[in-house]
Amino acid sequence: METTVLKKIWLSPPHMGKTEEAYVKEAFISNWIAPLGPNVQGFENSIEEFVDNGVHAACLSSGTAAIHLALEILGVGNGDEVLCQSFTFSASANPIAYLGASPIFIDSESDTWNICPKLLEEAINERMAMGKKPKAIVAVHLYGMPYKADEINEISQKYDIPVVEDSAEALGSSYKGRKCGSLANMGILSFNGNKIITTSGGGALLCKEKTEKERAVFLSTQARDNAPHYQHSQIGYNYRMSNVLAGIGRGQMEVLEDRVAARRYNYEFYRTNLSEVPEISFLAEPEGTFSNRWLTCILTPSFETRENLRLALENENIESRPLWKPMHAQPVFEKAISYTNGVSEDLFERGLCLPSGSSLEKEDLERICNIVKRELK
Ligand SMILES: *Cc1c(COP(=O)(O)O)cnc(C)c1O
Repeated sequence: METTVLKKIWLSPPHMGKTEEAYVKEAFISNWIAPLGPNVQGFENSIEEFVDNGVHAACLSSGTAAIHLALEILGVGNGDEVLCQSFTFSASANPIAYLGASPIFIDSESDTWNICPKLLEEAINERMAMGKKPKAIVAVHLYGMPYKADEINEISQKYDIPVVEDSAEALGSSYKGRKCGSLANMGILSFNGNKIITTSGGGALLCKEKTEKERAVFLSTQARDNAPHYQHSQIGYNYRMSNVLAGIGRGQMEVLEDRVAARRYNYEFYRTNLSEVPEISFLAEPEGTFSNRWLTCILTPSFETRENLRLALENENIESRPLWKPMHAQPVFEKAISYTNGVSEDLFERGLCLPSGSSLEKEDLERICNIVKRELK
């Protein structure tokens, strides 16, 4: 088989629109080649307008930086415990460690694959009985599917523990008519190269209060006191977004709705086309939720089927990827406490992300589906 001549299909490549270059050029012409400037302001405005519900956006160098600042602003520090969805990308949990706090991992429920409210409450009760109240909750809308926000917010209010809403994969998703990123005390977005829109690298912190945004900007620009010389009373970070990259972001915001529609089209195409393969299942949207379908995920009958399928795709120059390996099963978090129920480990074993880029052509989707059908026959 001449695998080398087959067109490469990536899992989730960047997809530029028509205006990104002009915004970047503007930064060059006006010499705003700095971590501030009109593109940063313009990008923040369009994020605020899109996510709505009164959020204040601070554009940063990455989604990871946004989680770090969110936790710091919520007062997480050395020796604290933070509850974190286990089924996620490591960037949801790493900032907990940056702050000298300990993650406590919570497994998923099977309706959304996200943090299980029952296990979460169990964990809170057990930690509190041991005399240690968790400082925050990190909940994730994985693959764009909204987590059970009503249930999680109710627990958050009942025990007075704030939630950081990791919407890195969920820009354009919504829950009961409200955009993801605006559902909790603080939200974060990512504009990494593989996300639904990208600035090549970047992120944003979404705050409820203007003062929180101001604090995020202050911390992200080295925590400079108000003085003519450089004076610092606390430790800061170099986390602000560059005005050049924010130009890409402004252009990407203009095509965001199209990107969401294209990703949802991919999902529908796979689901319809593969309906003749009963061994494969998909995650449906629970009532009241709208997923941006960042990545289309399928569940196969077994680890062997999943791995054979992945290799068959790879052999034909198509990139697919197993679902996220849960954090409680990661070597780096070996010593962390976790509350598990088997859901995320099963998803990791049997699940595969199919190519989901918004620039996929119909022929690409057909080519992928044919391989899946062939392999599962
Ligand atoms: C991508 C991602 C992040 C981190 O975003 P970066 O911009 O890459 O730092 C955090 N959480 C989740 C769930 C992600 O997918």
